[in-house]
Amino acid sequence: MTYELPALPYSLKSLEPFISEKTLFFHHTKHHATYVNNYNKLINNTVYANKALETVIKETANGNSNLFNNSAQAWNHTFFWNCLKQNGGGKPTGELQLKIESDFGSFEKFIEIFKTTATEQFGNGWVWLVLDKGLLKVTKTTNSDTPLAHNQAALFTVDLWEHAYYLDYQNRRLDFVSTILENLINWDFVTRNLTTNSN
Ligand code: MN
Repeated sequence: MTYELPALPYSLKSLEPFISEKTLFFHHTKHHATYVNNYNKLINNTVYANKALETVIKETANGNSNLFNNSAQAWNHTFFWNCLKQNGGGKPTGELQLKIESDFGSFEKFIEIFKTTATEQFGNGWVWLVLDKGLLKVTKTTNSDTPLAHNQAALFTVDLWEHAYYLDYQNRRLDFVSTILENLINWDFVTRNLTTNSN
């Protein structure tokens, strides 16, 4: 099915000073929009034309095709926008807090692993908090690759492509990731993803 570029769940200025209006504008209306447009062109008049985006991602997961790349990137970016909010950051509470402490040892250990994994991703990609067979894990994926293609449920991500941070942070990827964890992560969204995928 045609996938429409979703509006951002906040205004272009609302993540400043951590992510600039300029970065968010280009990231959403140029990068994300291009993946969405490519996706819609590629499914046109094919067996994928009437399928949901998530289905197309799963069905094309092993091919490393243009269709997989664009469908996964369309989905990854929509998910990423929802992972952020103005006045985010801090620590999770409730069920998610307990699950992080249980599966990583402590919240601080989770943060450490997340930052290390983001730093170790070579080149373009994504760092994720996923639920994999009932366990929380931190993973990294290259280019467009996404947890949906690996039977994992995505709970949280940070875009590690340079276009996500270069205007604001230049080469300082770790500063970008740390800033998101401290100031922008939307723990309510992460908690909802855990709840939705726990049953
Ligand atoms: Mn991106």
